[in-house]
Amino acid sequence: MTSPQHLIEGFRRFRERHFTHDDALYRQLVAQGQNPKILVVACCDSRVDPAIVLDCAPGDLFVVRNVANLVPPSGTLSGHHGTSSALEYGVRNLGVQHIIVLGHAHCGGIRTLVETGGANNPDSFIDDWMHLVEDARATVERDMPDAPLEERLQACEQRAILISLRNLMTFPWVSKRVEEGSLTLRGWYFDIKHGQLLQYDASKGIFAAL
Ligand SMILES: [Zn+2]
Repeated sequence: MTSPQHLIEGFRRFRERHFTHDDALYRQLVAQGQNPKILVVACCDSRVDPAIVLDCAPGDLFVVRNVANLVPPSGTLSGHHGTSSALEYGVRNLGVQHIIVLGHAHCGGIRTLVETGGANNPDSFIDDWMHLVEDARATVERDMPDAPLEERLQACEQRAILISLRNLMTFPWVSKRVEEGSLTLRGWYFDIKHGQLLQYDASKGIFAAL
């Protein structure tokens, strides 16, 4: 089991690799600043760390993680917008060229949404947050009410990615750059059961293996 002591030992190995053995990468990242080209919206789930799953190095990815990898609509400035402010920083300050919404199988946030039937319990931050993709749950329940739970969960996980892609376009600094052709949006789905990465193909309306 991982303990804080394991993390300290892990940091020592990381320091050895990047600061003692070969410090070129961090020297460059400090001198020139970070310049990631890709922003990933991923889930908090411990099994889907984008830098590990996509085999990336420090400086490669600007990562926004939240429960169920959701993007809220632009909305108003009131409230505390952790996800929206991270998107703004990535797009406006860093000028990323690609945004990937990385969903995944066996997502606890989506399971909560499906199991609670979209209830919006005022005592739960999770319920309120997951309500952002209530349309995904309602559509799946309407279209495939008799499908096994695992299939409905997967359909809901994938439809939620599409809602996030749509919501991304409600941010004017995203839609402007997408329309200019300097920013692309992708919906990816990591199937943690079969070890597959799928991408949404808008022309076919399906997620297909990469
Ligand atoms: Zn998840």
